[in-house]
Amino acid sequence: MNLRVPGPTPCPPEAMSALAQPMINHRGPEFAALIAEVTEGLKRVFKTRNDVLSLTASGTGGLEAAVVNTLSPGDRTVVVSVGAFGDRFKSIAEAYGASVRHVQFPWGEAVDPAVVAEVLREEAGARTVFVTHNETSTGVTNDLKSIARVVKDAGRLLVVDGVSSVSSIDVETDAWGCDIVVSGSQKGWMVPPGLVYVAVSPAAWEAAAKAKMPRYYLDLAAAKKSLEKGQTPFTPAVSIFFAMQATLKMIDAEGLDNVFARHQRVARYTRDGIRELGLEMLADEAVASATVTAVKAPEGLDLKVLLRELREQRGVVLAGGQAKLEGKIFRIGHLGLVDTPDIDKVLDALRDVLPRYLAAVPVRASGRAR
Ligand SMILES: *Cc1c(COP(=O)(O)O)cnc(C)c1O
Repeated sequence: MNLRVPGPTPCPPEAMSALAQPMINHRGPEFAALIAEVTEGLKRVFKTRNDVLSLTASGTGGLEAAVVNTLSPGDRTVVVSVGAFGDRFKSIAEAYGASVRHVQFPWGEAVDPAVVAEVLREEAGARTVFVTHNETSTGVTNDLKSIARVVKDAGRLLVVDGVSSVSSIDVETDAWGCDIVVSGSQKGWMVPPGLVYVAVSPAAWEAAAKAKMPRYYLDLAAAKKSLEKGQTPFTPAVSIFFAMQATLKMIDAEGLDNVFARHQRVARYTRDGIRELGLEMLADEAVASATVTAVKAPEGLDLKVLLRELREQRGVVLAGGQAKLEGKIFRIGHLGLVDTPDIDKVLDALRDVLPRYLAAVPVRASGRAR
């Protein structure tokens, strides 16, 4: 199978054999050494000297941790959203009783930092801003550096969903002033789902000390206290740590800048190939993501049937659209373990299969579809 969804991603043999290691005591010296090594590796990739905590949860668990450790019920807060994952921050914050100013941009477009600046002038009481770096549902990467500058100039705390960017797209956590950055193991890290990483700045710790939202499993202060002893508060996904030990070595060996450049190159290759097939991207080239490409389905094309044929007949697994983009786009994941030959398999399969589907598409879409 050519698994090309934007997470979970394929795992290299190094990760798979690491996963097969015998279990260890999560309160013993082997685990203390393991979590110390993985945490140091995470800090290099996050480009931070802040604490980086590994929680056993999916990416959303990390987003929820960011919310409940920075806010109190009733707090006014700003959520900047360009898609389904941005909206998730709003849902979580409201579930815990925050009052959300939801700043929305059209799906397929990026955040305009000037609009964020304007909103922050209006929302003097909102101390925390939530934003998605790479919006996996639309294939858009926001200009995090510019957004961070605006948020920091306004003296607010910045919480970043970097789940599908950190390790594949450059995130300068400290240099840009990101207070909390979240990333998930099943994305660019080339390991299975199970861990979420949360980088926490000194300012975020100050906010956490005052934040009154209820929390127990996701209490970051408890995670920090345990990490100082080489542990986690609760039994962690030990095997995912083994796999991370292996893939962090691979990332170091390739070099972080080379990893980022490979993602850019593969993403460009993907978009060029899609254009050659006569299809269009949802996002503009200038904001197109290096980790996921969202492709517009020509009107009338039955995406469900197309994706099933690709999977069953060609072994190519792509993702559909989420929420209001369901049936309107399909998405190709190209993060972590990926290079152009993986994309060739996707494009070859589409080249073989698409014409039959496009033939069935009504005339008005045929100009676009060729
Ligand atoms: C995958 C992803 C998440 C987390 O999803 P989970 O299913 O909870 O792991 C969050 N944000 C973004 C941008 C993602 O791509």
